Amino acid sequence: MNLFRPNGAAYRAPLARRAAVALVIIGLALSLSLLFRFLFGSGTFLLFFGAVALIAAYSGLRIGLAGVVAALVLLRAFAFPPFDSFALTADAIARVGIFVMVISLIGWLSEARRASHHQREELLAREQLARNQLATVLERERMVQQRTGLLAELGMAMNSSLDYLTTLQQFAHTVVPFLADFCIVYIEQPSGALERVVMVHHDPEIEALLSEINSHDAIDPQGPNPVAQVLRSGRPDVSFALSAHDAQTRTDSDAQRRANDILQPRAYMVMPLIARGHTLGAISFAMTASGRSYGQDDVALAEEVARRAALAVDNAQLYQQAQDALQVREQFMSIAAHELKTPLTTLTGQVQLMQRRAEQTEGTPERDRRSLLLMSSQVRRLSNLVNALLDISRIETGKLTIERAPVDICALVRQVASEVQATLEDRQIGVDCPETPLFVLGDALRLEQVMLNLIQNALNYSQPPAPLTVTVRQVGERIAIGVQDHGIGIPAAALPHLFTRFYRAGNAETHYSGGMGIGLSVVKEIVSLHQGDVQVESVEGAGSTFTIDLPLAIDQAVAELAI
Ligand code: ADP
Repeated sequence: MNLFRPNGAAYRAPLARRAAVALVIIGLALSLSLLFRFLFGSGTFLLFFGAVALIAAYSGLRIGLAGVVAALVLLRAFAFPPFDSFALTADAIARVGIFVMVISLIGWLSEARRASHHQREELLAREQLARNQLATVLERERMVQQRTGLLAELGMAMNSSLDYLTTLQQFAHTVVPFLADFCIVYIEQPSGALERVVMVHHDPEIEALLSEINSHDAIDPQGPNPVAQVLRSGRPDVSFALSAHDAQTRTDSDAQRRANDILQPRAYMVMPLIARGHTLGAISFAMTASGRSYGQDDVALAEEVARRAALAVDNAQLYQQAQDALQVREQFMSIAAHELKTPLTTLTGQVQLMQRRAEQTEGTPERDRRSLLLMSSQVRRLSNLVNALLDISRIETGKLTIERAPVDICALVRQVASEVQATLEDRQIGVDCPETPLFVLGDALRLEQVMLNLIQNALNYSQPPAPLTVTVRQVGERIAIGVQDHGIGIPAAALPHLFTRFYRAGNAETHYSGGMGIGLSVVKEIVSLHQGDVQVESVEGAGSTFTIDLPLAIDQAVAELAI
């Protein structure tokens, strides 16, 4: 590094100024010298020495040396007689040499000092620059972190509730005051009116005042209000600097003008809430007396907030619609099932009566007996269907309950199997039960329904004369009831969906078209109410085994309930 000239001579005063200063100093020295000679009779070398030293210190080495030459000439010409002779003695030459050396040293030192001072200044400036850059980077990082944090909070708010008003409240509280001094969310109502559903201001008092002012104010959809304009155009409206006058021209009611007087908005962003191509409303962010404004980063963030808010509103509205539709369906199913039940009960009774009469009456044509048998089986089927619909409706409304009592599972299985067996001519239902009774604390009627359903399925999805077997086993403190058939089996892809309501495997319809995919879902629900589980193992084309797993009633409990 060149100590004398770092970055050229930029650290020194301009040459002209240094030369002028040198001339003034040397001139002063000469004047004083002449004055001294006039007063005391002799000039003084020291005066010139001091002057040249000053010049060297201020103007640097070169001008310092020029000063030496000038001083020598002037000294010779005015200070030391004879003034017209420039002859130098050896003594004088030695003194001049020392003079030059001292002045050079002073000039050199002064330049070195100035250079190092300049370097220090430069280093300090660079350090300051680096500090400023670091501060900018840190500030930027802080902003990015804040924004990422804000978006994460919005994500959590979206997942926390299906009520969109709660979600939007959380949204508004998250963006105020980071992105806005106040935030309002507007949602278009089914009537077409635009309602301010959320209003958050960083000052709760102003927020309360605004709620009151706005509570009876409607935004004119065709008016100059930026929100109405955004809804009409479907595009954001941003004002980075809003004058009080501009703010007042963008209102369409006294209430809005009053609100503006209180809020004094100075910058705003209004974003449409668009989901699946529909504008659901708008969200406005505004800065007030805080004096803050918006930049492009803020616009991008506001757009993201609006996108998420729209998604939350859309999801919530879809969920609500689905819930409403479900409720209508449940109501319909419940009413239909109840309405069907009454005539069906009468029909069942009448068919049974006619069957008994036909049996007792000699000479009833075989054709009529077969018709009655068919009527009876179809009425039973209809009854089962209505009961299944009623059960579904009960499950939906949480009204499917069980009444617990000790139930001997083997006795129950044997009874159901023999009842079904009585209706079969070409099939055998094998029952494999241990001798000792195995009790569960459960609802006998509901467990009968479960067994009937599984046995009926095994019959429906297999061909006569393939037998089916019901096995009951104690496994530790549980009972496993298996219903095995050798029928069409279940495709592997269908297994995970089998207990889903209205689901039927792909191979079911061609084999048995009478099903609706309801029975197994009810079975699962009933078994769950007994703290049990139902599993299926099946190979397509080779048969299926459905296994019910129920908790065994320990003796003590059975005894207590049996008393
Ligand atoms: P469905 O009235 O259709 O029989 P379920 O809920 O009882 O309704 O059964 C749902 C589906 O599970 C059936 O449609 C059928 O695809 C399959 N399934 C049930 N049991 C068997 C079985 N034993 N063998 C083969 N498939 C079965």
